Amino acid sequence: MKKIESATSDALTRRNLLKGSGMALGGLVLAGSGSGCEGKDSTVPTPSGDATQQFTYLANLPTFTPRTPLEPNEMRITFMGSGFPPPRRAQAEMSVFVEVGNAKGEPDQFIFDCGSGVSTNYNAMNIPFSRMDKIFLNHLHGDHMNDLTHIYWMGPASDRKSPLYVWGPKRSGITCPAWGTTPATNYDDGTRALCENLRAALRWATESFSFQTTSYAGYDTPTRQGWQYPDKRGPVGDDPPADGYALTPIELDWTKFGETEGDNVAYYNPATGVKITHFPVIHNRKGSVGYKVEWNGLSMIYSSDTKPEVNSINQAKNGGQGVDVFIHEMILPADVLTMKTLRITDPSQVPQQVWNGALQSAIAVQNSSHTPQGAYGYLLSQITPPPRLAVATHFTVADDTTALALNSVRTHVPGITWDPTGIIQDGGQHPASGAGNITWSGDLMVLRVFPDRILVQRAVVSDYTYQPYPGAAYANQNPPKYDDGDPSTPYGDPYAQIDSSTAVPAKDPDTGKDNYRADGY
Ligand SMILES: [Zn+2]
Ligand SMILES: [Zn+2]
Repeated sequence: MKKIESATSDALTRRNLLKGSGMALGGLVLAGSGSGCEGKDSTVPTPSGDATQQFTYLANLPTFTPRTPLEPNEMRITFMGSGFPPPRRAQAEMSVFVEVGNAKGEPDQFIFDCGSGVSTNYNAMNIPFSRMDKIFLNHLHGDHMNDLTHIYWMGPASDRKSPLYVWGPKRSGITCPAWGTTPATNYDDGTRALCENLRAALRWATESFSFQTTSYAGYDTPTRQGWQYPDKRGPVGDDPPADGYALTPIELDWTKFGETEGDNVAYYNPATGVKITHFPVIHNRKGSVGYKVEWNGLSMIYSSDTKPEVNSINQAKNGGQGVDVFIHEMILPADVLTMKTLRITDPSQVPQQVWNGALQSAIAVQNSSHTPQGAYGYLLSQITPPPRLAVATHFTVADDTTALALNSVRTHVPGITWDPTGIIQDGGQHPASGAGNITWSGDLMVLRVFPDRILVQRAVVSDYTYQPYPGAAYANQNPPKYDDGDPSTPYGDPYAQIDSSTAVPAKDPDTGKDNYRADGY
């Protein structure tokens, strides 16, 4: 069987990819030279779902220990989710957690997107809910917000007894065509409507948990002056503004990109020095945005889902200064994605009609929404100065897919490096044009960005963590909403919302004997 020694883009054209089982995906598990991924020279096809699939690069990165304190001048970027939907065992849906140290004042932290499965990784990384109160949604697809339900509902039962803030785009403004018996209409498809409906949908859940305290005494709600966000309207629903179930959307005018100074600021906190701006990207329907975080001379961009477009390029140029980390999505070639989806390694393994239908569907998804591998390389070739580190995300990583993608990128930026050591000692210098570093994101990959170096690490976590330490939860609490005034239940009245008439008591009231131990044993 032919081994692909040093794949050129020509070797990876659709025609070659599909010309027969000899070029099946198993054969594409390349020894991508310089990729840091020593692939196997296998002739065995590896369809999606094959249990032997690995992402060797991530497995071999230097390790990171959760709760390692931030250094004062560190921007830390953790991929709590990194995949293309649906979630995989190895990759939750998207979420990027950005933390900054105290070089400019207080530390600060932000969640960008929170798709299905990411709560598992926040928990494994020991991030308490009190540090998960600022969520920036790039767009309102489920794979970017599914776990909002969990974060909102569960936070006040732990240590976020303070409001939840959700940034995201305002309504798209698209007029929906007449459909069935519904006339043409303008839906409110913006972030505030999402939050209003989420708040209402979780009424039973939030009331039920309100036998516990849900707010702190004397809590100062962040103000628009303190965070300089652009939406005055405050929380949805009828919750007190400082309550843990107060859900505060901050809608962004997704058309803005800083053409007029300050017209695209989502958040600026003088106390921590963090500024977050937004810019429009092209994804599926009008309204998707990318974000840029600037702090202490460091900067990162997270495009989220988008087709290749000029705003990401211009934002990454950053007025000639460049950005330190450029996180941008990438999608597999449509035919590879189709084969992976169908669990095949050659189109001939399914009926022609199935292949054609699935392939056309994948092409339509790409064209409405996503950035092909070569287009990602082209974008990088247009960004001057190049980012210190480019990260491809929202990508189904494995040794074969990343090797394939690296070759596509190198067609446009031949000198780019994918360094398996995870240590970028660049002295803070942006690379020469056409060179620089790239990586692919996997879950629990940690980027530690410093003024003079970037460390790419793999967090080592327990699969059996309990909830993060909720220390702040037990100080300065207000009485719960459902309170019986009983001093023996200072943390809430567990009986207020239940009918105990059929409960089996620990001690039989008639005989005085124990049915079971009241202490849980
Ligand atoms: Zn999307
Ligand atoms: Zn997505």
